[in-house]
Amino acid sequence: MTDTDAPRPFRVLPAVVPENEHFWTGGAEGELRFLRCTACRYWIHPPTPVCPRCLGTELAVEAASGRATVFTYTINWQPWIPTFDPPYVVAIVALPEQEDLRLTTNIVGCEPDDVFIGMDVEVEFLEYDGVWLPLFAPVTSSTAPTAGGAP
Ligand SMILES: [Zn+2]
Repeated sequence: MTDTDAPRPFRVLPAVVPENEHFWTGGAEGELRFLRCTACRYWIHPPTPVCPRCLGTELAVEAASGRATVFTYTINWQPWIPTFDPPYVVAIVALPEQEDLRLTTNIVGCEPDDVFIGMDVEVEFLEYDGVWLPLFAPVTSSTAPTAGGAP
């Protein structure tokens, strides 16, 4: 599946279980998927069997937009993981769907020094052994919605 002979950096992969399979495999169809309460429409992450807001148990998988903004970040300079070479950006991104819906991820597609808090990013998936890691890259499309409301 790779288009290069270069070895890909080692990644620590999650354990995929039925409860989180929608999240880790949604990238196969380009979708960033979460559980969502069918009663109160609350987005739930990480997955739980009960809605933390209304205690409802009727949960469905839904795809979010894939858009986000950088909530906070750090640039890692330490070679913690063999073959996963620094520097790289570890960020928490905030999704527009819900105020407390956030993901810890990496920012890719730009130099670490170009990342800033409030940066508009969008998901891109990196597939490893049946797991689609949701990473985020700067928004490049001209169809980007204007933040804060258009005139
Ligand atoms: Zn609920």
